[in-house]
Amino acid sequence: MDHTLSTAVFMPFLIAYFVVRGYWASKADKRPVKEDHSFSADKINIFFMSVSLILLPLMALFTSWLDAFDFRESPALIAGGAVLLAAGLYVFWVSHRDLGENWSVTLELKEGHSLVTNGIYAKIRHPMYLAIWLCSLGQALVIPNWVGGAAIVLIWGVLYFVRIGREEKMMAEKFGPAYTAYMSRTKRLLPYVV
Ligand code: SAH
Repeated sequence: MDHTLSTAVFMPFLIAYFVVRGYWASKADKRPVKEDHSFSADKINIFFMSVSLILLPLMALFTSWLDAFDFRESPALIAGGAVLLAAGLYVFWVSHRDLGENWSVTLELKEGHSLVTNGIYAKIRHPMYLAIWLCSLGQALVIPNWVGGAAIVLIWGVLYFVRIGREEKMMAEKFGPAYTAYMSRTKRLLPYVV
């Protein structure tokens, strides 16, 4: 199948995603880790996330290996997906900016870790995870292939639900009443909703 439109939308997104991540990760990595709370299920999920964000879409777009999983390309779906990808990228940038050096890939607490409750974190507790939901759903619409596009929603869903409770428990143990008060006045992903 011809994937010109999907490629034109997805490839600039993928490059921009890693430019944003690379820029902020290089800053955050300067601050040493104090407590490592990572766990193996999370690390396995992160590996599958990378595969479904990079390898599988590239295979769907540039090879015929996943053609059996193609569905009909629709410009309307791709346009909707492009909007989700752009929105996700914007929220991704803003949350990286507001979280600063407190960011990490796996669950960690840094030296001098501060509880961020300002900027976008004043509205919701997990804006970066909201960004990844938006980007994953966007990818599912932009790449008309069940494995190269939609699979990431499932993989991200597993990572999100396996991690979220542990992350909040870690933060509550570290920051005590400050975090529980923050939890009681904010939602995880969408203000007033969820
Ligand atoms: N869940 C957040 C952050 C993702 S990065 C989001 O979706 O925006 C994961 C790391 O961020 C965790 O290891 C934790 O140390 C840190 N973290 C999460 N919430 C934080 C907050 N409100 N303030 C400071 N650090 C936070």
